[in-house]
Amino acid sequence: MKPTNRRDVLAGLAISAGGMLAASSASASDAPASAAGHRVSPAIDGPMLTSHKPEESILFKYSMDAAEPKVTSGGWAREATAHQFPISQGIAGVHMYLNPGASRELHWHAIAAEWAYVLDGRCQTTVIDPQGRSEVLNFAPGDLWFFPRGHGHSIQTIGTEPCHFILAFDNGHFSENGTFSITDWLSLVDPQMLAQNLGVAASTFAGFPKGETYIMQGRVIPLDSPAAREVNDNVGPNTHRYCLMAQRPVREFPGGTVHLASAREFPMSSTMTGGVMKLKPGALRELHWHPNANEWQYVARGRTRVTLFGSDGRLAMSDFGPGDVAYIPRGYGHSVQSIGDEESEIVLSFDSGEYQEISLSQWLSTTPRHLLANNFGVEEEVFARFPKSQVYIAAG
Ligand code: MN
Ligand code: MN
Repeated sequence: MKPTNRRDVLAGLAISAGGMLAASSASASDAPASAAGHRVSPAIDGPMLTSHKPEESILFKYSMDAAEPKVTSGGWAREATAHQFPISQGIAGVHMYLNPGASRELHWHAIAAEWAYVLDGRCQTTVIDPQGRSEVLNFAPGDLWFFPRGHGHSIQTIGTEPCHFILAFDNGHFSENGTFSITDWLSLVDPQMLAQNLGVAASTFAGFPKGETYIMQGRVIPLDSPAAREVNDNVGPNTHRYCLMAQRPVREFPGGTVHLASAREFPMSSTMTGGVMKLKPGALRELHWHPNANEWQYVARGRTRVTLFGSDGRLAMSDFGPGDVAYIPRGYGHSVQSIGDEESEIVLSFDSGEYQEISLSQWLSTTPRHLLANNFGVEEEVFARFPKSQVYIAAG
């Protein structure tokens, strides 16, 4: 898959998750060059990169919804992997759209777990775990699923509306083009072997697809039909579903809310934490960092401004709108501001099942004032006016 906006991949240098300088995969000759011969990051829209060391600019924005989709008979998928978006080493993302009646076929992933957040429409998933337990579950907007690496699964639209959702994978090198699909597999092996395996005649497979169908168009399944019924024996920690937006937010402030599902709330989600943050116009998700995980953000609604502190004099800032993705490498300082005149809604994903953060207000409020006075070279009284506890979201 090639992004339509080639400027996005002609990024010059990007900082990888490990903090090393990494050349982008794009051809060097296509990239703009500075007088000093360093490739520089192009402006994407507006003032987005303000690094003090332009030759080390941190490109942490990717316009996923502007990328060229993979399209098959029943829908499409747009992806953001480390291939198009070099900084995104820990997490890859996909926006997938299924027509009414379409199914994303039976498949599994060898190198990543799959986390999903349903934006619109209804769908039904099937999943089988290594104990042979299977679940057939229905999803509505605001619901999550989590399929651990290797669990076989499928997704099918139910009802007459299309369904679309955001997927995140805990490996930046995962690509939707590299899934293990059942049609691909069965079209490649000898029909005689399938006949022996399944105890039917080899001719049974004559009408099967000759290659991967990926997202296949089929008949619409009405919401009230028997086919739309759930078959769910996996209650408790074995379930792959979590109804995120039906829960109370884990954090609630006048400026906004955060819904989160770590492995504590959603045990199946053992290697990822996901959530949704809503910020009222002007509100600020305060300066903070995550000691244990990379963070991936997809803007579903509104506009945000994200700052990223990469140590050693490097600060990058970028503006994001619907369909844009931000990537915050583990340990990097960052903040998120809602800059539009409508509430912004951001889908969040982290590549650890344990959620950890340290925030600026919390750090300063727990540090002795004499040390702060010495650190900043100002009077202790200055810090008497600072917050006494964690701010988390500051209203606009
Ligand atoms: Mn999948
Ligand atoms: Mn964060």
